[in-house]
Amino acid sequence: MADTEYCRRTAVTGLSVSPTDATRLRELVEEWKRGCQLAVNEAWGVCHTRSEVQQLAYDRLRDETALGSQHAVLATHRAAEAIKRSRRHDGDRPEFTNPTVAFDTRTMTVFDDRTVSLTTTGERVRCDLDLPADGGYQSRYLDDEDWEPAKSTLHYRDGEFTFHLGFRRPSPAVDPPTEGATVLGVDLGVENLAVTSTARFFDAGELNHRREEFERVRASLEATGTRSAARTLRQAGDRLDRFVRQRLHEVASGIVAEAEEYGCELVAFGQLSEVRELDPDAGPLHEWLFERLLSFVEYRAAERGIAVVEVNPEYTSQRCMECGFTHPQNRDLERRQFECLKCGASAHDDYNAAKNIAFRCVRRGPLSSRGLGAAACALRSGVVTPDDGFTPYAELSEAPKSD
Ligand SMILES: [Zn+2]
Repeated sequence: MADTEYCRRTAVTGLSVSPTDATRLRELVEEWKRGCQLAVNEAWGVCHTRSEVQQLAYDRLRDETALGSQHAVLATHRAAEAIKRSRRHDGDRPEFTNPTVAFDTRTMTVFDDRTVSLTTTGERVRCDLDLPADGGYQSRYLDDEDWEPAKSTLHYRDGEFTFHLGFRRPSPAVDPPTEGATVLGVDLGVENLAVTSTARFFDAGELNHRREEFERVRASLEATGTRSAARTLRQAGDRLDRFVRQRLHEVASGIVAEAEEYGCELVAFGQLSEVRELDPDAGPLHEWLFERLLSFVEYRAAERGIAVVEVNPEYTSQRCMECGFTHPQNRDLERRQFECLKCGASAHDDYNAAKNIAFRCVRRGPLSSRGLGAAACALRSGVVTPDDGFTPYAELSEAPKSD
């Protein structure tokens, strides 16, 4: 959970670029693509961490491209990310054709007068940020001293430059939950991306559908093998990435809203490394989706003082939330239904699992305990504690759910 260190945001803005500067930036884009490709070619099948790829390819990038020292470093890092990503998808060696360049605070400076200065292969360029007339959401970050400029990307398309200006600020420190804190359990899965112990379902239907569609397109385009097919495929891939990202943000904000609504100070997930083992339908791609979702939830939750923890998910899908009886055949996998062999209680499979994840957090605590614990699980209609069992919200002295 190292990502909790900073909250990150991106402000997308146009750039007003003079013809001379445009030439410099285009030159940079070309050299950047070449540099990334050199680094990938050198490191492919050899190594994939940032530091390894940097060590291996940096000198060559300095010798054979016009990239400055810091952009050469960034290009080796971009290459490392591409290699890792490709390994995750069992993919081929990455080809750098996208006209985008990464910047960090050493290669860019953002000024108060709404200009940005960027390192190129020659002289630095300084250009105006092209913001909406009313300042747009971008101004929120530009004007707020708590947000500092961070990793950004320059995009060049159809003769226009766009800048994805990154901002970050330290995550607010999350205080340990108070005694008697309530936890929201979340089960992650393939059909439902996430289900909460309060019975909120975030289905993955559209996402899975688009992914399958993309795979079909990919298969036919790869068979074609032309340059234009490759371009179409890239565009389809970019569209899919944007959709996935947006959907994950929706789900993350929905989970955090649910935690707030039910007065939860903790959100518990099953440990990600185990989720794949436990769900036969989940592949490396889902592991990656879940990781991103978890980090999105962490950012948003931290801003609201809610802690995110992982619990051991073992048997959480087989255990009956009503009577505690645990058996693999409690689950009807075909119907996605949980039906207890012992007491006959039934529930949606993922919903039952989410309740057990919350309960495990209460009973055994989170895996990486930082003194965080919870006393009660939030369900739809009340809370459950190990000692008192189920109590409806109406009977609690302080009803956590406001009407
Ligand atoms: Zn039962």
